[in-house]
Amino acid sequence: MKTYYNISLLPYNTFGIDAKAKLFIEYYSLDELRQALKEYKGEPILHIGQGSNLLFTKDFEGVILHSGMARAKFLDDETVEAQNGLRLDDMIAQLTDMGYCGLEKLSLIPGEVGASAVQNVGAYGCEAKDVIDRVYTIDVETLEERVFSNEECRFGYRDSAFKHELKGKYIVTSVVYKVKPGDATKTRQEIIETRMAKLPTVGEVGSAGSFFMNPFIPEEQANALLEQYPDMPYFEVPSNNLKQPQTTSNYIKIPAAWLIEQCGWNGKTLGGAQVWPKQPLVIVNAHNASAQDIIDLAAQVSASVKEKFGIEIRPEVNYI
Ligand SMILES: Cc1cc2nc3c(=O)[nH]c(=O)nc-3n(C[C@H](O)[C@H](O)[C@H](O)COP(=O)(O)OP(=O)(O)OC[C@H]3O[C@@H](n4cnc5c(N)ncnc54)[C@H](O)[C@@H]3O)c2cc1C
Repeated sequence: MKTYYNISLLPYNTFGIDAKAKLFIEYYSLDELRQALKEYKGEPILHIGQGSNLLFTKDFEGVILHSGMARAKFLDDETVEAQNGLRLDDMIAQLTDMGYCGLEKLSLIPGEVGASAVQNVGAYGCEAKDVIDRVYTIDVETLEERVFSNEECRFGYRDSAFKHELKGKYIVTSVVYKVKPGDATKTRQEIIETRMAKLPTVGEVGSAGSFFMNPFIPEEQANALLEQYPDMPYFEVPSNNLKQPQTTSNYIKIPAAWLIEQCGWNGKTLGGAQVWPKQPLVIVNAHNASAQDIIDLAAQVSASVKEKFGIEIRPEVNYI
């Protein structure tokens, strides 16, 4: 276990925000994780992965945990168990090389295995929930292991129970993914090229990927907007993909990028923050942005979308 005091979080978040943590612990086994949780019981605890979906709004006055466990093993020919600290894309690269497919549409999504289950990451029509069999965790209070089936994770669009009722209560320690033999080389390569052309490269331009989630609106509201904006793209949502509020309405997904673009935000800046010109869903740290620059720009973007379309767009990024 490695322990650091008053450490800069700059290398631990892809937005490039220079916040500090009072204590930062990297553990290398489940025993070390349990030891750290026992020792710092009662302190504010935040478990991070690669920090690719975090916005540190201030210094963190508690304990940040990070896993140094980064192995994967086949349980049988159809399931792979990966430890929480393994980079998701490193695992997909290895699986592809070994002739296994199933996860290739998630190629190049930054972040680690643990967060893939928390966030239910997704791209190109595939979500982590489609390929996760079960999730191993440690209960932060009792330090006991608990296994969550796919259903128990209550996955939704960029969502899971770990972001709501289970938030802060469990640390994901490993994830079992479903795979099958097959050649994913071409798909993986195409996805990598598409993503590289559109999205900021981690390590070169600070960002947390899509800043906003795509909104889901009732069908009646979508129909009214379509009369005014016939070119508005939209997608009907399969009912099993959305935790719908108690209503009889069908829901329609509208691309937030289109809404933001229509409000004229592409390339606009506020302080050091910028709406990424190639993909307006992304806010980047263009010139030493402070967290406040990013928060203010995001607030202005969502206020203008609300004013023009009557639609609320919510951040996907976790404000810390
Ligand atoms: C350039 C770029 C492109 C992106 N593209 C996509 C995309 O296409 N699709 C997509 O879905 N996302 C995308 N993202 C967002 C990001 O990659 C995902 O949200 C990813 O899952 C975050 O992983 P992480 O390891 O960095 O987690 P972090 O950002 O460190 O943490 C995210 C959340 O998970 C929690 N967490 C992390 N590890 C654990 C654990 N072991 N146990 C319990 N809780 C934990 C944290 O507390 C936090 O709440 C992109 C980000 C960037 C920068």
